[in-house]
Amino acid sequence: MGDGEKKRLGELFKALGTMVPLWETAGLAITCPANGAVIAWLAPDSVESLSEKVSRAHAAQQAWSVLHRSQRVSLLEAVSTVLKQHREVLAEVLMLEAGKTAKEALVEVDGSAEVLLKTIRDAALPELNGMVRCKERPPVGVVGLITSFNFPLVVANWLVAPALLARNALVWKPSEKTPLTALAYKAVFAAAMGAHAGLLQIVIGGRDIGEALVAHERVDMVSATGSVAMGKGIKAALAVKKNNAVRPILELGGNNGVIVSEKISQAHLEWSLASLMGSFLGTSGQRCTNTRRLIVHRKIHEAAVAILQKHIEHFIASGAIQSPLSAVSNEYGYGPLIDGDAYDRFERAKKKVMEEGGKILFGKRMLETQYPNAYYVEPALALLPKQTALMHEEIFAPLLFIVPYDDIEQAMAILNAPANAGLVGGIYTQSQSEADRFAAENQAGHGLINSPKGTGTPAFGMGFGGNKASGEGEILNAADPLRAFTREDSFSRIAQNKDVAMDKD
Ligand code: NAD
Repeated sequence: MGDGEKKRLGELFKALGTMVPLWETAGLAITCPANGAVIAWLAPDSVESLSEKVSRAHAAQQAWSVLHRSQRVSLLEAVSTVLKQHREVLAEVLMLEAGKTAKEALVEVDGSAEVLLKTIRDAALPELNGMVRCKERPPVGVVGLITSFNFPLVVANWLVAPALLARNALVWKPSEKTPLTALAYKAVFAAAMGAHAGLLQIVIGGRDIGEALVAHERVDMVSATGSVAMGKGIKAALAVKKNNAVRPILELGGNNGVIVSEKISQAHLEWSLASLMGSFLGTSGQRCTNTRRLIVHRKIHEAAVAILQKHIEHFIASGAIQSPLSAVSNEYGYGPLIDGDAYDRFERAKKKVMEEGGKILFGKRMLETQYPNAYYVEPALALLPKQTALMHEEIFAPLLFIVPYDDIEQAMAILNAPANAGLVGGIYTQSQSEADRFAAENQAGHGLINSPKGTGTPAFGMGFGGNKASGEGEILNAADPLRAFTREDSFSRIAQNKDVAMDKD
């Protein structure tokens, strides 16, 4: 199994003008989550090759940092254009190695192209008297970028765009589960950036090479997206590193809770639960922003569970849970779990719920005969009498904990209790005083009141970032998107007349 996918991968990389750097049958094995087949073996980087790449990034950064802003902007616009030209190819790579459905993969590629342009727009101040204006601070130098498996492309682009616009270079270590997307992106990047292609270096490997990247003395800043455990490891490493003057950006795990109040009409209850289905099921529970805990007033608990059951029954019966490599797609981007470890975590959580006196609805394994090495599951509802230690963990699978509460004070305490409840919190209520209390006491980086998308965040324009154990720093910061990737020591405000032709070079 896997020969067809391997061949297809070769064709996709050929379409990007490059080759899959295959390493026979040794090195880092890349598995296709849709069927469990190994589709590539990549040569992992060593500490020596990492150092070479850091040096190349430094050299590229020297040439880049003296370019005028307009030249940097046009090259980044070119990356966006080439991404759009190859959107289907990149989407297929995402489907093969990250298990994305076609629809979700295309949304991710389009979002990646858009975020490059959005960062350029956000970084420019409004024109004044015909003057184009921006703020410039000294660049950091070389940024070590570490990313997670679940959004292999768009999360990187959130950071590549401001880092480059701020005149830095990057050494990117993608997840060991999804490095092919990074290699495909590198081909797009090289085609657009020409002589400046060296600004983005890719290192292949797992946690060990990530640790080496963080510790490397010539890496001037770290921007990492991953689990809370990864964040702790990186903070500990930075604490003893000499070159650690620039604050890292850490985008970490979330454990997003939503309160459903009894101060709600039947129609609004139905709407609320339908609204959060997307953030429960999205990417099969493998998003940092998934709704993971539902805190429901005891009076409406039974009714709420019945409504959710109806939605899940309908979703399963629709036949939407299929291999993403089939033509079937679904509105939630619901496909397989990334691997056996994710499935084991899901199963362990279900077992623990039962041991703790709770009840599991749905959550069966699916398509096992067809794909014994791939992990498709029904979404699961985990009913618990009260919040337990298990609910402080990010299960990172389609499992929704549901607990009852008796008053809003207790609901807020449950919502805020886990250290990793720092990304998104929400409430559905028709009581203004409850909404105000939630806004004042929610400890997560984002608070959503009666959201039409559950805990899916309205990040654009608001910035994106976690509090508590869920992160440090803010990305997609519309007010000053480049700031995190610059040094604070001096600061210029640049204004240039847009009507004077600058054509005498
Ligand atoms: P992970 O923590 O297992 O790995 C993430 C990356 O960090 C990988 O590239 C890995 O090799 C590397 N890594 C792990 N430990 C490291 C260390 N000590 N030093 C250096 N590098 C290290 O996470 P994952 O399973 O790939 O992704 C899922 C996690 O990412 C979830 O917790 C999810 O919530 C989180 N996430 C957060 C955001 C956000 O914006 N807050 C976005 C996407 C994913």
